[in-house]
Amino acid sequence: MSARATSRWVVVKFGGTSVSSLANWRNIALVVKRRLEAGNRVLVVHSAITKITDGLEKLLAAAIDGKPDEPLKAIEQRHRDLTSELGITVSPQLQGYFDELKQMANGIALVRELSDRTRARVMANGELMATEIGARFLMSQGVDVTWMDARDMLSAEDRGASAKASVLSATCSFAPDTALEQKLDASTPVVITQGFIARDSDGNTCLLGRGGSDTSASYLGAKIRARAIEIWTDVPGMFSANPRATPAARLIRALHYDEAQEIATSGAKVLHPRCLLPARQYQIPLYVYATQTPDLEGTLISGESAPGAHVKAVCNRKGITLISLDSPGMWHQVGFMADAFAVFKEHGMSVDLVSTSETNVTVSLDPAANTLDGELLGKLQRDLSRLSNVRVIGPCASVSLVGRNIRAILHKLGDAFALFEEQKVYLVSQAANDLNFTFVVDENQGDRLVEQLHDLLIRPGKGDPVMGPTWEQLFAKPEAVAARAQPWWSTKRDELLGTLATRDSAFVYDLGQVEMAARSITGLKSIGRALYALKANPHPDILRRVAEQGVGFDCVSLAEIERVFEAVPGIQADRILFTPNFAPREEYERALALGVHVTIDNLFVLQHWLDAFNGKSVFLRIDTGIGRGHHHHVKTAGAQSKFGIPVEELDEVARLAKAGDVSIHGLHAHAGSGVFDVENWTQVGSVLVGLVKRFPDVKYIDVGGGLGVPDRIEGRELDLARLDGALAKVKGALPGVELWLEPGRYLVANAGVLLARVTQTKVKSGIRYVGIATGMNSLIRPALYGAHHDIVNLTRYGEPANIQANVVGPICESSDFLGHDRLLPECHSGDVLLIATAGAYGRAMSSNYNLRAPAEELLI
Ligand code: ADP
Ligand code: ASP
Ligand code: MG
Repeated sequence: MSARATSRWVVVKFGGTSVSSLANWRNIALVVKRRLEAGNRVLVVHSAITKITDGLEKLLAAAIDGKPDEPLKAIEQRHRDLTSELGITVSPQLQGYFDELKQMANGIALVRELSDRTRARVMANGELMATEIGARFLMSQGVDVTWMDARDMLSAEDRGASAKASVLSATCSFAPDTALEQKLDASTPVVITQGFIARDSDGNTCLLGRGGSDTSASYLGAKIRARAIEIWTDVPGMFSANPRATPAARLIRALHYDEAQEIATSGAKVLHPRCLLPARQYQIPLYVYATQTPDLEGTLISGESAPGAHVKAVCNRKGITLISLDSPGMWHQVGFMADAFAVFKEHGMSVDLVSTSETNVTVSLDPAANTLDGELLGKLQRDLSRLSNVRVIGPCASVSLVGRNIRAILHKLGDAFALFEEQKVYLVSQAANDLNFTFVVDENQGDRLVEQLHDLLIRPGKGDPVMGPTWEQLFAKPEAVAARAQPWWSTKRDELLGTLATRDSAFVYDLGQVEMAARSITGLKSIGRALYALKANPHPDILRRVAEQGVGFDCVSLAEIERVFEAVPGIQADRILFTPNFAPREEYERALALGVHVTIDNLFVLQHWLDAFNGKSVFLRIDTGIGRGHHHHVKTAGAQSKFGIPVEELDEVARLAKAGDVSIHGLHAHAGSGVFDVENWTQVGSVLVGLVKRFPDVKYIDVGGGLGVPDRIEGRELDLARLDGALAKVKGALPGVELWLEPGRYLVANAGVLLARVTQTKVKSGIRYVGIATGMNSLIRPALYGAHHDIVNLTRYGEPANIQANVVGPICESSDFLGHDRLLPECHSGDVLLIATAGAYGRAMSSNYNLRAPAEELLI
């Protein structure tokens, strides 16, 4: 059914923040007047003042405890303050609401009891008080407005099984309502009413659930067949992620109702999930705008969808509880699912996501739809355990990719999936409507995953009409950027620029930073020895500085061993561990002759060259089966990895070692690189500790490296104190054994930057490119792993970023890029760009590809 073409009504809904200041109310008056001037009539729906609904919930809790006075006073004062700010008086009606609230709170305090109905009546006061103020303000601005009670316009439906939901999370009928239309048509051209509240058939006040004012607007819009519904909030539209958590989130200019529905249901608070259906049913366009910036373009949600398949948003919903049902007998068992779901129904619980296998069914319970307390969960668990083994997992976050035809783009998600390998993914679900792909992970992993997925997947194509500017572009202020943590290089800008006076590119290392990182590792109490994995950066000065801190070395080639002896003259051989992989026999012989520790990582070595190790002590590199890392190329354990001896070969290793008189004095494992979860090292440690009884000579357990380094200035850091605590437990299991750790990247990544001069710039098909003097020949990580390196224009550091560009090098490969879609100030030929965290695996992995020498190395 289409909107009534002749309707002159526009519904404009303002949220909590929108109605809480004079500046915003001036904009509301402006919006209303503009609509009137365009020949429309305006139905204003609005929320309680910001935080007042929360305040009322607190008031209820305090009243049950018998102490309502303070929260009552605070609520009243907040409203009085707003009236003064808006230059209006406290009307008798407003005073009436204050009095009523006081009476209800005192009543609850007296009886110490609270029904859902009373709760709804108290909470409704937030919207009633705010709209009374709103009406008075609009009148003071010369707007001819009538205040109406939304409960006379919206009838709550009986939600059957759940009486609680009927009162606190009600739904309303929204079929066209001619009587309401006539009533409004007969009133002033502007009517103001409350969001969030309705009335049931018995005349009781009901609520539409937290955030439900959007839905009030939509119900009313449908009932009067409005020509548009506008949701005015504190962000100018729906974004590709919550812009407050992900500043690179982009404005989505247009969405189909289905897509907006999916984004709202997947956790984007900006729209209440129930507000899409009425608009969709009556094909009423729904707009999202920001009250603070009424002239920004916003989002249009309608029945039209942009062609093609791409991910439009990455959403995060927290507070998810999973119920996992395990039953080996489930396979082909008739009616198992029906029985299980009957139990959920009995407990009034709504199931959201479901995944099944032959022996397991895992479902998620949505916190918005269920009141989950420990007691209820306990009962549910008890009843389900009659059917199968039950596990309650939580709190979890569901991270969803939303976009049309998501199935058609799954092949492009390869790199995105790599991100999940460091996480426990409890459940994966692809919506039947092909709009949503959801992963459920531990709650504390959600934010980071969204950030990374967004970075990987939201890349607008040439002249994309749908994806608009980023939040950062719209709102980032230079002060906001300056307020971020100051990286070391920002304080050495002149010195760094000086190094490029005579060259076009350079890696610059700050040894003080190397020393600081080394100290943070040697300070770990649980660690007996730290070994620097010098493949990350074998610069002799770095090796010396690291050695001075008492750190040893992990070498993977003979040349690396020789480098250490050259750079650190007189170093004791036993501070070096040689961990080669598929190396020739001579390298082992030479290393043993030098007296360094040697690691064997393949049974072949003992089977074929046992005599070379006769009478020696060695390390074994074990494949624990657990691979981790920021990309599959940097995972170094697990079935797909070429490294390490699998546990099932250890009996044979023990037999050969005994036969050849080889003592196994160390066990080593390394799971991968770029890991932030301390559990990684405790897991590896526990596997190795478990193996010690098979190798009684073991004195050292080396849990590897891979300590994650934040790749963004504001990125999260590895929690070293937690790591220390966790490793202390591993060590506690075997008091006589010394723990070793092998940081590589961790010691040097942040200590180095790559500087490069801008050569040329280009705009092609609407996409900007900033070309610099060196590229993947110096820093291959972005091309190889999709790694992120922060990039700033050092010449114009601190200037507002007003362009978005791909930063590319001069190499003849389309993968020769350093960063996609980077926010930068306008860049000019000759400017110096700084690519951060380039101290590890930069120069070390560089090449002369295209016969272009990589950037040279300098120290400051
Ligand atoms: P109101 O009080 O106006 O109803 P809400 O706080 O309910 O406003 O919703 C607006 C908030 O939604 C924004 O401040 C933003 O942090 C959050 N949000 C979450 N996800 C998104 C998204 N994808 N796009 C826009 N805003 C989002
Ligand atoms: N005031 C209510 C809330 O805070 C409804 C709304 O703002 O949409 O949940
Ligand atoms: Mg809201």
